[in-house]
This record gives sequence, structure tokens and C-alpha cells, in this order.
Amino acid sequence: MINLILFGPPGSGKGTQASTIVSKFGLTHISTGDLFRYEIGNSTPLGLKAKAYMDKGELVPDEVTIGMLENKLNSTPNDKGYIFDGFPRTIPQAEALDTLLDSRGTKITHLIALDVDDEEIVKRLLNRGKTSGRPDDQNEEVIRRRIVEYLDKTSPVYEFYEKTGLSQKIDGIGSLDEIFNRIYDALH
Ligand code: AMP
Repeated sequence: MINLILFGPPGSGKGTQASTIVSKFGLTHISTGDLFRYEIGNSTPLGLKAKAYMDKGELVPDEVTIGMLENKLNSTPNDKGYIFDGFPRTIPQAEALDTLLDSRGTKITHLIALDVDDEEIVKRLLNRGKTSGRPDDQNEEVIRRRIVEYLDKTSPVYEFYEKTGLSQKIDGIGSLDEIFNRIYDALH
């Protein structure tokens, strides 16, 4: 079983790579950002709550995010494993994920961080914003806020899993195939 945390700042290519990994390994892709956007699209109370944070480039509170993640895990059992994309983004989320997996007799097997510098991220996200329809990709101030949230709250998650030897960093710049091959090597 592979339980991979695909890690890295917004715009580092996690979602794109996740699709390829899913098709090669038969894993279930869980993106908390996608789950929030689905809720927003359906104007649910959860979506409305999340939107207020997302529009500002801030993280949605842990209890909301963890509850949603748990529901998703319960509704999509997969013996082969999962790719967690955009989760965990805080230490309490990482602790909650470990507990959730532990209660299912499994655990995180890898954390792979895509390394991309800040200016490249801003450039990529503004470019993505032209077609993604995502409001948080269309405003440079919001993008920079997301990067600050990543540095403050999310990057410590790398060290959290590094203690147990699970964290690996790879170069996130290159063609889709080059980056996939680096991830593949890191998984083996
Ligand atoms: P993403 O699609 O992963 O870039 O996420 C878009 C936005 O959704 C983030 O900027 C946050 O506002 C929110 N979000 C997604 N995942 C999480 C998470 N694990 N914890 C808190 N907020 C999240």
C-alpha cells in the first residue's frame, strides 16, 4: 500500500502529477482544495464557510478541513492507497491524518515535496488564473498570501515527517515526464 503526501507550495504541480500517479498506481487522489471547490460549487454551508478563507488566500480552519477529509476517506476505501494533495497543511492536520490512518491499520508511506521557488510560483499561478476560473489564482496579493501561509503553517509538516525518514524533496522544475520520473524514483 502506498499512502503518499504530495507536498509543495501552491502551483508546484501537485495536482498535475497526482493525475499521472493515480493512473499508474491505482491510488485514490484526495485534494482538499478540489473538495472545497466542489462544496462551493454546490453552495453548501461547508463551501460558504471555506470560501471566505480561500478568497483571502488563508487556510480553512483545521476542524473543518479534517472533518471533510475523514468523510472522504470513509466514502472512498482503497486497499492500494491514497495520494493526499494539499493535505495535511498544518501540524494538527498531520497528527489527525496519522491517527485516522492508524485506526485503519495503515500509515503514511512517503512524503514527496516538489521544490519550486516563489517567483516561479507567482508566475505559474497568474498564468493558471487566466484559464482555471479560480479567483485565488487571479490576484497577486492573494497568491502571495497563500505562499506566506505555506511558509508559516505548512512547511513545518515536511520536518514533521522527516523525523520518521519519510520526507523527500525533488526538483519541481522541468517537463511533466521529468518530474514524474523523479517522483517514481522517490517512490522506489
Ligand atoms: P489548493 O487547491 O490546494 O491550492 O487549495 C486552495 C485553497 O483551499 C487554499 O488556499 C486554502 O484556502 C484551502 N485549502 C485547501 N486545502 C486545505 C487544507 N488542507 N487546510 C486548509 N485550507 C485548505
